[in-house]
Amino acid sequence: MHVQGQDRYQATLFPERLDELIGEDNPVRVIDAFVDSLQLKALGFARIEANATGRPPYHPGDLLKLYVYGYMHRIRSCRALERECHTNLEVLWLLNRLAPDHKTIANFRVDNRVALTRVCRAFVQFCRSQSLYGGETIAIDGSKFGADNNRGKVTRRQELKQQLQRLDTQISSWLDELADNDDDDEPPSGGGNTRAALQALKAERATLTERIEAMDEAGVNAQPDTDPEARVMRHGQVGYNVQSTVDGKHCLIVDVDVVQNANDQEQLYRMARRTQRQLQEQRITVLADAGYSNGQLLKRCQAHGLIAYVPVNRAINNQGDGKLFDKSAFTYHAEGDYYQCPAGQRLAKKTKSTAKRLYLYTNAACQDCHVREHCTTAGQRWVTRHFEEDVLDAVADRTAANPLMMQRRKGMVEHPFGTLKRRMDGGRFLLRGLQKVKAEMALAVTAYNLTRAINVLGTRQLCQALAA
Ligand code: SF4
Repeated sequence: MHVQGQDRYQATLFPERLDELIGEDNPVRVIDAFVDSLQLKALGFARIEANATGRPPYHPGDLLKLYVYGYMHRIRSCRALERECHTNLEVLWLLNRLAPDHKTIANFRVDNRVALTRVCRAFVQFCRSQSLYGGETIAIDGSKFGADNNRGKVTRRQELKQQLQRLDTQISSWLDELADNDDDDEPPSGGGNTRAALQALKAERATLTERIEAMDEAGVNAQPDTDPEARVMRHGQVGYNVQSTVDGKHCLIVDVDVVQNANDQEQLYRMARRTQRQLQEQRITVLADAGYSNGQLLKRCQAHGLIAYVPVNRAINNQGDGKLFDKSAFTYHAEGDYYQCPAGQRLAKKTKSTAKRLYLYTNAACQDCHVREHCTTAGQRWVTRHFEEDVLDAVADRTAANPLMMQRRKGMVEHPFGTLKRRMDGGRFLLRGLQKVKAEMALAVTAYNLTRAINVLGTRQLCQALAA
C-alpha cells in the first residue's frame, strides 16, 4: 500500500487557521515584517491614504509584499502574480487573501518606480544597522541584462539615411511631375492624387528625420524599436548595463544601478562613491576588473579614500612588435620631467594627445643614434606617458603585489549576478525604459538581499530585528 494523503472532502471539527500553515521559519514572514517596518509614505508610495469616496484602492504595502515575494521566487509577470494570489498558500497568508487583478499589480510597479529604489536602499540601511556589512572591502562589477526588445528589432542610422535618400528622390520626382502638370489634381500614372501622395511622403520624411535627431541626441548609431532607451551592446545584444557593488562580509549587495553605456570604464568612481555614502565609511578597499581601468577615475578614487585594486589597461608603447626596446628600458625622471633612453639621451616632453590623455617624449638625437635599429623604425623614438601615470603605476603595483584580491573580487561579485540572472529568466527585464528597469532591478536586489540576510541571521532573528 502506498502512502495515503488526507481525504480532500473530509471536514474538520476545528478549521485550521491560515497562520498555522505558515511555519515560524518561513521566509515569507520576513517579507511581511520588512514591509510593515517601512514608512511607505516617506518612501514616496502613492495611494497610502484611501479616498473617502469611490472604490477603495489596495494598500501599497500589500502590493509591495506581493512583488518582493514574486522576485524572490522567480515570479515577475503581473499575470503570474495574480494567479499566485489565488493558488499560493504563502501569498494567501502574506496578502490576507487579497487578490488584486493583473492590471492593478502592473500599475503599482510602474507608478512607484522611484519608491521601489528607495525600498532597496532602506533594506541596505537596515542590514547596516544589524552589522551585516563590513564596510571595509567592496567589489564592483557590471553585467548586461537583456531589454524587452528582440535583437532583430533595431533601427540603424545607416538604414534611416538610405531611406531618407530614397524619399528625397521620390519627392523631387513628384515635385517635377507637379510642375509639369497644369492641373494639380490630375492623377499621376500610378493612380492617386499627386499632392496628397506628396504630403504623405513629406510626413514620412519628417518622421525619419525625427528618428535620426533622436539618435544624434542619444549619441547612438542604432536604436531598439520596442524599448528605445535600451542600447545595442556587444554581440548585438539589446539591453542595459547593470552595475552593482557587493560588500565583502556576507556578499550582500550595497548598491545597484542600471546604465545605458555598455562600457564599464566610466563607472568605477561613481559606483564607489555611491557605496561609500551608503555605508558611511571614509576608507574602503575597492576591487574591480580591468574593464574599470581609468586613470582619471582612479585618481579621484584615491583622493576620496577609495583604495582601488584594478588590473591596469594602458597602451604598451612597444615598437616593432616588441622586438625593439621596450618602454621599460626608458627611465622616467620626475625631476626635470624626461625619460632617459638606453643610449643615455634625454627624451623631453614635446607634445600631448588630450583625447588619449598621453604626453609624448622624444629627442632629435635619434637621427644619429648608433642603436637606432634596436629602438625605432621611424625617424625618431616617441615614448608615451599617461596624464595619470603615477596613479596607474601605484594601482598596478598594488594589484600585482596582491593577486588574491582579484580572486576575492570574483568570489564576491559574480555569485550575486548569477543569482539575479537566474531569478530574472537568464537576465531579462520585463519593463521598458531606463527608469522602469531601474525599479525592476531594485526589486530584484531587495529580494536577493532579503534571502542573504535570512541565510545569515535566520528568519526569527530577522523578524525580531525588523519589529524592534
Ligand atoms: S633611437 Fe633615440 S631614443 Fe632610441 S636609443 Fe637612440 S637616441 Fe635613445
